[in-house]
Amino acid sequence: KKVADRYLKQEVLGQGTYGVVFKATDTKTGKTVAIKKIRLGKQREGVNITALREIKMLKELKDPHIILLIDAFPHKENLHLVFEFMETDLEAVIRDSNIFLSPADIKSYLLMTFKGLSYCHEKWVLHRDMKPNNLLIGVDGQLKLADFGLARIFGSPNRKFTHQVFARWYRAPELLFGAKEYGAAVDVWAAGCIFAELLLRRPFLQGNSDIDQLSKIFAAFGTPKADQWPDVTDLPDYVEYQFVPAPSLRSLFPAVSDDALDLLSKMFTYDPKARISVKQALEHRYFTSAPAPTDPAKLPKPV
Ligand code: ADP
Repeated sequence: KKVADRYLKQEVLGQGTYGVVFKATDTKTGKTVAIKKIRLGKQREGVNITALREIKMLKELKDPHIILLIDAFPHKENLHLVFEFMETDLEAVIRDSNIFLSPADIKSYLLMTFKGLSYCHEKWVLHRDMKPNNLLIGVDGQLKLADFGLARIFGSPNRKFTHQVFARWYRAPELLFGAKEYGAAVDVWAAGCIFAELLLRRPFLQGNSDIDQLSKIFAAFGTPKADQWPDVTDLPDYVEYQFVPAPSLRSLFPAVSDDALDLLSKMFTYDPKARISVKQALEHRYFTSAPAPTDPAKLPKPV
């Protein structure tokens, strides 16, 4: 039984933020695809108008490091988004204790992440929900960003689902303080958390509530001083936190190179206006100094 007269449905791949994802064969191309079913429910009318316009824009995002949105169509109360199928994701790589990640491997993953982000940021599209399980990995080792722009179309991840809690660990401090206007810097913060997670092989800042997340951030980098982040007091949910001094970043990442540590510190700059941009990060000496990033085809992957 075909969906939309084109896709042969196979097994369920998992439950995502917006609905179930299943594997299918695209009978038009013979390729394997992943179809994300998004429940439209009560929002249906409103979502249809804005979502379809935004989805049209997402279909135009074409880059080797962005998951290709092949097709989008409504079907029985659900919106179906058809993506290219990917073997695994960065979370599976990080969690696999049989995998050793060398500094060159980490650099390769980070480089691909930045390339994907750079393409979208140049087009003024933000991801807003960067986390290791949104960084998908293909058979050829290529890393591609998934779920680009969905957070904006379908609302920020709903807290009633437990699996969405993890996104908090990657949330920038300006979002935790309730910023309504924010920019590409939120994706840079999240990428910094992913960089740290690749180095540590465990999530770096694991808050169990939004307040606790800020405490974890402050414990790692110290409470922001007025000159470090002058506008913080204007944010809607700003509250003063008890002063915590900043430990040295080196003490948190004892084994990493000076270049890696310098890039990391620039990604974790408090003031979003002063935080390094993706374009600047790609020009950072971390990416030009030895070791060279591993060829994606040679990256280790889960068996
Ligand atoms: P979340 O919203 O929690 O990030 P997703 O909706 O992205 O989750 O994905 C749910 C499940 O579907 C995950 O287990 C993921 O591995 C799988 N999945 C999502 N997109 C793809 C894809 N393009 N190829 C293969 N599997 C995918």
